[in-house]
Amino acid sequence: MKAIPYGRQNITEEDIVAVVEALKSDYLTQGPRITEFEINFSKYIGAEYSVAVSNGTAALHLAVLALGLKPGQKVITTPITFAASANCVRYCGGEVVFADIDPDTYLIDIESVEKILANSTPNEFAGIIPVDFAGRSVDLEKLRNIADQYNLWIIEDACHSPGGYFIDSNRDRQLCGNGKYADLAVFSFHPVKHIAAGEGGMISTNKEDLYKKLLQLRTHGIVKNDSIYINNPSFACGEESEDYPGWYMEMQELGYNYRITDFQAALGNSQLKKADTGLVRRKEIAERYYNAFKNQDFILGQSGVIEGHAYHLYVIEVKERLGLYNYLRTQNIYAQIHYIPCHLMPYYRDRGWKEGDMPNAENYYKNCISIPMYPTLTNEEQDFVIEKINQFYNS
Ligand SMILES: *Cc1c(COP(=O)(O)O)cnc(C)c1O
Repeated sequence: MKAIPYGRQNITEEDIVAVVEALKSDYLTQGPRITEFEINFSKYIGAEYSVAVSNGTAALHLAVLALGLKPGQKVITTPITFAASANCVRYCGGEVVFADIDPDTYLIDIESVEKILANSTPNEFAGIIPVDFAGRSVDLEKLRNIADQYNLWIIEDACHSPGGYFIDSNRDRQLCGNGKYADLAVFSFHPVKHIAAGEGGMISTNKEDLYKKLLQLRTHGIVKNDSIYINNPSFACGEESEDYPGWYMEMQELGYNYRITDFQAALGNSQLKKADTGLVRRKEIAERYYNAFKNQDFILGQSGVIEGHAYHLYVIEVKERLGLYNYLRTQNIYAQIHYIPCHLMPYYRDRGWKEGDMPNAENYYKNCISIPMYPTLTNEEQDFVIEKINQFYNS
């Protein structure tokens, strides 16, 4: 049996052809495939606008910048996430406030968020960054109601959940990143995520003003549009003139180079075509795991079979987690832990967080393990994983 990782990309001949075509074209970066990817992605998740960037972390950084976080303002997020969900606040000089997770869903606990805000002063908090952890969508409708009471923005970290959804109070499906309740949503195209572009990220929104701002921030804060220039045409020409010259552009804000390349967008586009079939397979795998483990007494909790779950990860909570992890490695099965609670990373401990602050997240961390979950995992491979897990506890 070859090595079985917890997650992996699925690159097909079609993907390779798409990338080679891009490489042979006139554009390596800032070409037509980027716009095409943005339009197709918007359609896929049901949002108005999307802006492709160099990675998911850049997407988070630009999202926070576009929403105008002021230094010292606070933003709430979950400790059970990849560090980037919190770090983007620090990039902008904001302070991260962690809210504990719900031990059943592993998502940010909305009641904890409410409690934090109930004790806040006006303008102390600027926003909330909920994470659709493992692929399960946060109830953004509930979170929006709370955010509105305190005048907060919401950035949905949907890096785990393209194609996922939750059911709102009207019994309607709300696709992750569709922009109905969150101001902005971010995605990643790192190889372990649903859609691989090598590196890559996307920010989606229904708000035109934010969309335009994001486009500007992605490219150094530079604009090229006669109707919005601040300097006058004579300055721009270097002589008396009523019109701007062809070369003119303006840097109006401090932006970054967070562009994605055209050949990465080609890969993203090609991968997007397979996203739905990948999702179907992920659900099948989840159902097989759930049924295999539901009556096992070493299982303390698991991702389960949840409508709208995109199953980026399949998490089980188990007894003797360390032993299982090490045993699986001897069997060439590479499980992973998602995540070490972010508030207990040394960087955030230095900012005042300590053990005991997030009891549910800390307790979850003691038992959680992500077992192999990716569309090309075969039934045979999955059965081998299940067999080895059972074997560890029964020997
Ligand atoms: C992967 C990931 C990111 C960051 O994406 P990169 O493309 O790796 O920068 C952010 N948040 C979550 C929840 C992620 O899983």
